[in-house]
Order: sequence, then structure tokens, then C-alpha cells
Amino acid sequence: MYDIVIVGAGPSGASLARLLGKKYKILIIDKRQLLDMNSKSNFEKCCGGLLAPDAQQMLGRFGLGIPRNILNGPQLFTVRTMDIQNNIEQYYQRHYINVDREKFDKWLVSLIPPEVIVICEAIFKGFETVNDNIKVQYTQQGKERTIYTKILVGADGAFSTVRRKISLDLPKSKTYISIQEYYKMDNNLPYFSAIFDDDITDFYSWTIPKDDLLVLGTAVMPKNKPYERFMALKKKLILRGFEFGPCVKRNGAYLSRPEKLNQIYLGKTNIALIGEAAGWISPSSAEGLSYSFRSAYALANAIQQRPDNIIAEYYRNTNRLRLNMKWKHFKSPFMYNTFLRKIAIKSGLMSMDMINIIE
Ligand SMILES: Cc1cc2nc3c(=O)[nH]c(=O)nc-3n(C[C@H](O)[C@H](O)[C@H](O)COP(=O)(O)OP(=O)(O)OC[C@H]3O[C@@H](n4cnc5c(N)ncnc54)[C@H](O)[C@@H]3O)c2cc1C
Repeated sequence: MYDIVIVGAGPSGASLARLLGKKYKILIIDKRQLLDMNSKSNFEKCCGGLLAPDAQQMLGRFGLGIPRNILNGPQLFTVRTMDIQNNIEQYYQRHYINVDREKFDKWLVSLIPPEVIVICEAIFKGFETVNDNIKVQYTQQGKERTIYTKILVGADGAFSTVRRKISLDLPKSKTYISIQEYYKMDNNLPYFSAIFDDDITDFYSWTIPKDDLLVLGTAVMPKNKPYERFMALKKKLILRGFEFGPCVKRNGAYLSRPEKLNQIYLGKTNIALIGEAAGWISPSSAEGLSYSFRSAYALANAIQQRPDNIIAEYYRNTNRLRLNMKWKHFKSPFMYNTFLRKIAIKSGLMSMDMINIIE
């Protein structure tokens, strides 16, 4: 019998286990191998691996600094915004930390206190409520296991099994398929590019340099021939002067994009959702790491403060996070409405002039 079972040891689950692990009896399971820094996982998370200032602030508040071996080069201060429909582009200053996402997740898991039982390469299957407790089923190396817990936390990402089992009739976020390919590069680009093209997606596409690789990614609707759209994007960028070396890796994942606040679901009674499983992700940029940290912190406090009414307290603790989401919704039309985006980019507001070498 555990106090808390956490499904998913990504940024949100690992953070919750780290915050509460000394006080509660916790088990955390993940289908990935996150305990061995050198292992290659079959389920590598498809992610840009850019830590935005809000995520950096949370790491700072947690008293954490990122070890050098987690970083990818170059570190990025610039976003190149390309609007294909309006045929305009602009550069903006942003402060990202460029990390190797797989190593970053493993580093977060390494910070979980030894009192917590961490089980990797185990797949959560389901649960049922037995009296006031929860019976949890998972498989490990093909064997079925059953354990009991007082609280179950779904930190299992955009395609959360825990969420699907408790929110059948609730509003769902818009769900995209994201695809990323990694190309070998001799000279990598010194910026993150955000590409807006309504023919490819109503969300956005990106390039991110990662050491000697360039990542090209997009998020498209699953029914819209995702890979064909990805290849169309690549062709368009080549015509615009982008170079892509040989492809060495490809990955993909679901990406949720909550369009309304009621699509964020925190859970019920003693079953809670955090991170992307709850819908905590920016609808304007898909930045999700700060939300993972903040929702884990909010739930950790709720479990300590109101064990009798966790979800109500978790809801209260996330009031500011909901306001933040409202702000992102407000910003969205200036990024995703073709006309408003044109005005926003053309205005040059907050943009920076690039300086070329004099020849
Ligand atoms: C293409 C893409 C690019 C992104 N880029 C960025 C970025 O640059 N910066 C940023 O801040 N955010 C980015 N995000 C968002 C960010 O990746 C997520 O918000 C963040 O990973 C959410 O963390 P999480 O812990 O909630 O979920 P996840 O990171 O998805 O972790 C969920 C964990 O649960 C495990 N799991 C799932 N199902 C099961 C199961 N049945 N049994 C056992 N384990 C299970 C998974 O293996 C995984 O480890 C991006 C997202 C996508 C899709």
C-alpha cells in the first residue's frame, strides 16, 4: 500500500516525486528507461528541449541549476519568425536554455529522493477504486503487477491513460501529431525559427539547432496526412534557403492544445492529473515545461494542505496558472490569425534589427 502512485516520470511526475518523496510513501512508474543516463529509450519524448524563462524561474525556485552535460549547443537568444502567407519575417530576442530533452528528464529523475520507488520500463494499464483506495495495474517485463494506493496521479503526458479513464464525457483539448526530424549539419543555425504557414498547420512549425543536428518539427492535425505536410514544409524551407543534411533521427508525439480553460482537467477525489495530462501547456507556443513544474508544485502543496479535499485545493493553487493560460489565449490570435499576425510582425514591435558583416 502506497500513499501516492505517480504514473509518468517526465518533468511533472519527477518533480512531484522529488517534492513529496521524503514525506510520503511513493511509487512512480514510467514506460521509459530513465534511471540509466546512457540508455537509449524506445519511447524518447518528442520535444524541442527549449527551457523558456518561466521554466527557468521554476527551476530556480526549486533551487536547481542545470548541469553542463544536459545542455545542447548553441544557447539561443533569438527567434526568427517566418510568416509564409504574408511573406514577412522578423527577429526577436528571447532567452532560452537549449537542452537535450532525454538527458534533462533523466537528470530530473536522478533528483528523486531514494525513499521513492522508481520503476522504469513498466506500463500502466488501469485502475479500479476499492473502498477508499485505488488498485493500480501495470506490467513490467511482460508480467502483470497490482499495487494499492491512497492517491493516484496521472503525469502521463498528452495521451494520458489516467485521464482517458476518468474524463470520458468531458471536453477534450484539440490534439495534434507532432513530427520532428533531425538532420546532420556542418554549420548549424544560431536561432530558433518559428514558422507560420496555414497550408501546413493552424499551429506552427519550428527549427532548433542541437549541437551538430538541426531539428525540423511541426504539429499538424492527425487526419491531415501529417507526414506529407511535414515534407511539404521541408520543401518550402529549402526553397527559402534552408539546408538540411542527412536525416539521422525521427520522432513524434501527440500534442494537446487546450482551446478553452474548461479543457484543463485536474482530476476527481483522490485521482489527480498534472502536466500535459491535465492540459497544462501553452496554447500559443506549446511551451509546457514551466506548466509541468508549476502544476506539480501546486498539487504537492494541495496534498500536504488538504489531504481530505485535494482537487479543490489543487484548483485553488492553480488560479494564477489559469490566469496565465487566459493571457496565452488572448495572445493567440496575434500569432495565428493571418491578418493580425501580419500587423503584429510588420509593426516591428519588440523586434530586433540584425547586423551583418560589412563586406
Ligand atoms: C513536439 C513538441 C515539442 C515541444 N517543445 C517544447 C519546448 O521546447 N519547451 C517546452 O517547455 N515544452 C515543449 N513541449 C511541451 C512539453 O514537452 C510538455 O509540456 C512536457 O513534456 C510535459 O511534461 P509531463 O511530465 O506532463 O509529460 P511528458 O513529458 O509527456 O511525460 C509523460 C511520461 O509518462 C510516461 N507514460 C505515458 N504513458 C505511460 C504509461 N501508460 N505507463 C507508464 N508510463 C507512461 C511517458 O513515458 C513519459 O515519461 C513540446 C511538446 C511537443 C509535443
